[in-house]
Amino acid sequence: MSDEVRSLYRRYRSQTFGELIGQEHVSRTLLNALASGRIGHAYLFAGPRGSGKTSTARILAKAVNCLTNGGRGEPCNECEMCRAINEGRALDLIEIDAASNRGIDEIRDLRDKVHFAPTQARYKVYILDEAHMLTNEAFNALLKTLEEPPAHVIFALVTTEAHKIPPTILSRCQRFDFHRASMNDILAKLNRICREEQIKAEPAALTVIARTATGSYRDAESLLDQLASFTGDAGVTLAYVQQVLGLAPLDATGKLVSAIARRDVAGGLQLLTQIVQGGADLRQFGRDLVDYLRDLMLVKTGNENLLDTTPDAIEGMRDQARALTIADLVRLIKLFSDPDVASGLRASAQPQLPLELAFIEACADAVQPAMSDAHQRAPISGTVVGLAAEQPPAAQTMASAQTATPSMPPTPRAAAATRSAERTTPASVSRPASTPPARPATSPSYVGSQPRAAVTPRPPTQPIVTAPPGSPLANVQEKWLTILETVKASSRSVEAFLKDCRPIEVNDETIVLAFKHSFHKDSVDNMKHRALVEESFSRVLAQPVRIRCVLAPDAAPTTGGTTAGGRTANPADDAVVKEAEKLFGAKVVNVEKPDD
Ligand SMILES: [Zn+2]
Repeated sequence: MSDEVRSLYRRYRSQTFGELIGQEHVSRTLLNALASGRIGHAYLFAGPRGSGKTSTARILAKAVNCLTNGGRGEPCNECEMCRAINEGRALDLIEIDAASNRGIDEIRDLRDKVHFAPTQARYKVYILDEAHMLTNEAFNALLKTLEEPPAHVIFALVTTEAHKIPPTILSRCQRFDFHRASMNDILAKLNRICREEQIKAEPAALTVIARTATGSYRDAESLLDQLASFTGDAGVTLAYVQQVLGLAPLDATGKLVSAIARRDVAGGLQLLTQIVQGGADLRQFGRDLVDYLRDLMLVKTGNENLLDTTPDAIEGMRDQARALTIADLVRLIKLFSDPDVASGLRASAQPQLPLELAFIEACADAVQPAMSDAHQRAPISGTVVGLAAEQPPAAQTMASAQTATPSMPPTPRAAAATRSAERTTPASVSRPASTPPARPATSPSYVGSQPRAAVTPRPPTQPIVTAPPGSPLANVQEKWLTILETVKASSRSVEAFLKDCRPIEVNDETIVLAFKHSFHKDSVDNMKHRALVEESFSRVLAQPVRIRCVLAPDAAPTTGGTTAGGRTANPADDAVVKEAEKLFGAKVVNVEKPDD
């Protein structure tokens, strides 16, 4: 990152809670806590990169230490303390980057120094960036501190991968989930920067930059800075942005879908050729196309409020959505997100061929008229017949089949059938990994009062040890809760570590325990704790027991003899629950077992 890039991104970093766009649920809660003087000692800020987590941690550090607000509200950004923090010279704000090597030494220091009072400020604030990367040693030091935090210390753990943080740490933090920034929020910020920096930029160019940043303010601002520093008097133009990013023209996805709706095979193939000749990245175009079809599906199903795009674009989508049925859209999304299309675009000597074939198949599919809106469909394009001789065989077959029965649902379509037969992997509706389905920033996170998701059981997704009844392992599983209780009587923290594991094997006197997190495994697997655990096992099982701890990241912790049930103990980790969350855009807070 050049100094210039860093400077623009730094200059426009949010300096107050009020400036945090799109994270009102976080700033409101923190401001309330400040106003009532109920500041926690450990916070977890989780969310996508570039969504303002570290900025929030710094604002919090200023707010609790500001010399003019009494530690009860927004920081003033003018007092000596606020300025010291903004300029990165405050001694009592300690930022540790767990992703880099220096994190190890600093965390080692942490335990020694954390008890010293702050040098100048009211609170010593530790910001642990990329907290999920901490070593086990560091987690251990942190846990010890979190168990009895000194009154003058606040920890802010910042992470993009909260699921990698051990539950023993999580349970001691107040957690805030940051939303992915919406395109319109990013666009608003880019406009503000252009105004204040007097950067000349076409509105459409800024829209493309905001869209490309996929939810990261940081990426959008860096990109704008780079583009602005290379363009001269012309400013940042749409054409320049598209050229630099290898993007197809903004309306290309819409035009291709129009061609499908009109069954204009010739027009669509010409468009694809133009896109290739324009130097656009076809894989990116394929992803954009699937995104666009998904947006159309949202419009069609009356969910325009979930769209992350400009009002003009929505207007155009309404017309297209009317020309297609939901079944059409589902079919098109499956067709264009087929792994064969994506991998073909990478490997083929004719890179555009997979897209062309998918497009032609899409035109054939789109002919199946839904009774309700069959009258809205245009008759098949006359150009198809004339072009047929020059088209790939698939197009020819489709064209002649359609021409023969223009108003009837097509009889077996050779093109589609051949394609389907060639497929080795089933079509998938999941979007490509590089553009994960963004939970719209406006969707509520249901925490507190909320609809409950009931989930029906299904076969286990991972191998679960099902011990035969009466076997030594079954015996251990049966008495698991009692064992935990016995351990808890001696040490609550060791019991907390044990909750992360499950017994997977019993060999004579040795019980093998599989842990999900190495931090918890190592914490149990030291001489002092192992003796305590073995003693508890021996007492409950009425026989001498040794334990062996192994790491099995996919292990589902045992919850009292129910391992054979096949559900993961943490509902949030369950694939079905995750799918439900994706579908409804909500956070599942409770999973109820169906009546047994
Ligand atoms: Zn201040």
